Amino acid sequence: MGLCKRCNRIFQHANPAVKLCPVCMEKEDKDFQIIYNYVASKGTPTIMDTILATGVSRKTILRFIDDGRVSLVENNELHLGE
Ligand SMILES: [Zn+2]
Repeated sequence: MGLCKRCNRIFQHANPAVKLCPVCMEKEDKDFQIIYNYVASKGTPTIMDTILATGVSRKTILRFIDDGRVSLVENNELHLGE
């Protein structure tokens, strides 16, 4: 059993590394696609610009940073990858 980090619902999972329920996992992947495309087109947008332009929540972006899918560099700018 795990507690979903996005919707706080309890869900079943086989792998303890899984942090999101299947519903949120799908939403999270869509959000990541949006972030990815935005950052790829802008180069190094700030986290604030990214939130405003994409509508993806700060919490979600911080999760992508935790997961290493994007990284936060100086001046609060986002980069793709490590
Ligand atoms: Zn969830």
